[in-house]
Amino acid sequence: MVVVLKPNPDKEKLDSLVSWLKSKNISIHAVTGESKVILGLIGDTSTLDIGMLHALDIVEDVKRVKEPYKNANRQFHPEDTVIKVANTQIGGGTLTLMAGPCSVETEDQIVGIAKAVKAAGATILRGGSFKPRTSPYSFQGLGAEGLELLKIARRETGLPIITEIMEISQLPLFDDVDVIQVGTRNMQNFNLLKELGKQKKPVMIKRGMSATYEELLMSAEYVMSEGNENVILCERGIRTFETYTRNTLDLAAIPVLKKLTHFPIIIDPSHATGKSALVSDLAIAAVAAGADGVMVEVHNDPPKAWCDGAQSIRPETFTELARKALALHEFMKTL
Ligand code: PEP
Ligand code: MN
Repeated sequence: MVVVLKPNPDKEKLDSLVSWLKSKNISIHAVTGESKVILGLIGDTSTLDIGMLHALDIVEDVKRVKEPYKNANRQFHPEDTVIKVANTQIGGGTLTLMAGPCSVETEDQIVGIAKAVKAAGATILRGGSFKPRTSPYSFQGLGAEGLELLKIARRETGLPIITEIMEISQLPLFDDVDVIQVGTRNMQNFNLLKELGKQKKPVMIKRGMSATYEELLMSAEYVMSEGNENVILCERGIRTFETYTRNTLDLAAIPVLKKLTHFPIIIDPSHATGKSALVSDLAIAAVAAGADGVMVEVHNDPPKAWCDGAQSIRPETFTELARKALALHEFMKTL
């Protein structure tokens, strides 16, 4: 349930409303917007009398929220969430370009790619160190050593880093990472999500390859329910009957999620298509559809990449992509 307060509510009346709700075992998530304060009520609100709440003179409106996700719901939090990451931000009208290799391989590789994508306009460096691979015989990532190489690349370029966590036991290693990524295969690892909710670092949750929007939002709710409000959502393609592309990019996720939730939405056209030739066009389409950013796999020598070479674009291609994406984003502000 959402209770919208009238501007400048009487403090005593507000305190007594809050303590009455608490006495009914209802927890309250207050959001102060530009003009209004909204109380999001979580718990069993079925016994609350809407008419009675409406009648209070500090209350402007009361709405039942039927969706199971509450904190993640746009009704609880009408304004967009903006996530601060080092000296940049995700959401709030900016276009975030996350770029880098599928996996960190060597210091030269990650530092070289980091410099190239930074020069092209990337704002965040990506690179996997703990890799969830379909085959146990494939390269599994450099692990802790890869995280150190990412930090070297950050030092050399100033770019904040995003990298994937696969299990709770790895969390202490992520102390000095800027954004923690939860991959498609872990979107419903609820224990991991809860742990990530107990810390404050931004968490980017990739949509499970067969997850509905509601399931994705419930995963965000897990993180938020433990107190971490720094959540970013990423659409990276879903499984359909089509086999030409690795997955099918669901661009409808952008307007749908913008309506349902307040989190920034990032699109990953690399894992969505599996084909480097398709990445730039879909990145541009994502910007046109209102995405807050894109995440793209970039490799200096894709045929020799240790992982996902077929979908990795070269730095020169990324430079063109970034130029077009940033120009389109600026242009859209004038429409
Ligand atoms: C990745 O971004 O490196 C990755 C493994 O992506 P996904 O979880 O979307 O497959
Ligand atoms: Mn990859």
